[in-house]
Amino acid sequence: MSLKKYTGSCLCGDVKYEVEAEAESFYLCHCQQCRKLTGSAMASNIQLAPADVNWLCGESQIKRFDQPGDRTFTKVFCSNCGSALPYINKSGNSLVIPAGSLDHQIDIAPEVNIFWEDKAEWLELGIEARKCDGFDE
Ligand SMILES: [Zn+2]
Ligand SMILES: [Zn+2]
Repeated sequence: MSLKKYTGSCLCGDVKYEVEAEAESFYLCHCQQCRKLTGSAMASNIQLAPADVNWLCGESQIKRFDQPGDRTFTKVFCSNCGSALPYINKSGNSLVIPAGSLDHQIDIAPEVNIFWEDKAEWLELGIEARKCDGFDE
């Protein structure tokens, strides 16, 4: 693996970032805490070697939440729209990019589903559900 540039933004567009780092893993986490933090079935996180995030705009409206405990849960987000943004984890050994915040395609795929046993009971049913290219008419 090698240094790659990642660029992303929040939904409202106030916060934009770029970072050059080496991807180490891409995982989907199904634990209850990640479901709470994302409001969705799972967290989709790219873990990279620590690197400084270059905030192109909106840095002053970024907020950070660290949930104390044995496993640390962190969310860095735009205080205007709530979208998840990259952060250095509490132990300082990883940069985490929420994959949904990226503005470009990536050439890595999730390699593992962690905390699979804790997954939402509707996840697999949802993946199998009817597909529409837009709203369900
Ligand atoms: Zn925003
Ligand atoms: Zn999790």
